[in-house]
Amino acid sequence: MDRRSFLKKAGVAGAGAATAAATTLATPAIAQGNMELKMVTTWPKNFPGLGTGAQRVADRITAATEGRITVKLFAAGELVPPFESFDAVSTGTADMYHGAEYYWQGKHKAFNFFTAVPMGLTAPEIDAWVNHMGGQALWDELSAQFNIKPFQAGNTGVQMGGWFAKEINSIEDIKGLKFRMPGLGGEVLRRLGANVVALPGGEIFPALQSGAIDGTEWVGPWNDLAFGFYKVVKFYYWPGFHEPGSSLGVGMNKGVYDKLSKADQQIIADACMAENNYMYSEFVANNGNALETLVNDHGVQLREFPEPVWDAFGAVSEEVVAEVADGDDLGKRVYESYLKARQAAGGWTKISMQAYTIARDRVLGV
Ligand code: CA
Repeated sequence: MDRRSFLKKAGVAGAGAATAAATTLATPAIAQGNMELKMVTTWPKNFPGLGTGAQRVADRITAATEGRITVKLFAAGELVPPFESFDAVSTGTADMYHGAEYYWQGKHKAFNFFTAVPMGLTAPEIDAWVNHMGGQALWDELSAQFNIKPFQAGNTGVQMGGWFAKEINSIEDIKGLKFRMPGLGGEVLRRLGANVVALPGGEIFPALQSGAIDGTEWVGPWNDLAFGFYKVVKFYYWPGFHEPGSSLGVGMNKGVYDKLSKADQQIIADACMAENNYMYSEFVANNGNALETLVNDHGVQLREFPEPVWDAFGAVSEEVVAEVADGDDLGKRVYESYLKARQAAGGWTKISMQAYTIARDRVLGV
């Protein structure tokens, strides 16, 4: 809408002018700070919640600046392959990305903490850490090493444990599985004997169908229904130990960000924060109904991981997460800050959200 009106105005201004004069009209437009920013994503085009969330961030910035900054979205593979989004923004091929920070763990293991780590923070807890308990400053420091300014811009909430072709009755059943799981959760499964891959979203279903993988995690009922994993595998485990509240992020090329006015920087920060809140509520709103569809219409078998399996997940997770601190000083500081937040926020969660929902369920069954 705003872009159209901008183009219309430009058209009117140029209508009475000769071609040469019209060319010179472009100059003041640039001088006034009009620009088009390219946003790449790790998500397939218009994928529910994730792809549409990236589009909403782009649209919010375009609308709030009345088109002075037009953000054009390129879905996974349209400009660069999904996992090359980080490098594209770091080097300036694109101006910003929307994705999950743990996809960049090859750059630095500490990136995992800014999406989710096994046995880590829930959605409200990671927001607390990033906004109020030192997380953002550490994230800024980490991303600045790669010429990137990071923002939270979405959350999936607690993810499901994943899709399995057979039941997981003991930790022995994990051994030898060919499983898709990114981030440090993937490393935990690897140490428990699985063969782990970290495929981008759009490549999971074909891999499952061809037998290249036996099972996968993705997000939760709403997103997993959209990909149709139930057509291949039927056992759906809850909840995921590996992603208890995955925070999604926008990374902006720092050179581009630093050149913006304070007002435009604030608009970008606010657009991301709005989406961080909006997307989480969208997942909460859609997961319950999608789960009913999976179970009632598609014969999906829901299963809870047995306690001994949880014990193994927990022990290995703590080991894997702690190793990030051994990498370098920044990794150590991120790890220590995160753990402190888990202790403080987790203590509150226990007698608030957790205690309340357990009591509500006991009394009312919801
Ligand atoms: Ca996931």
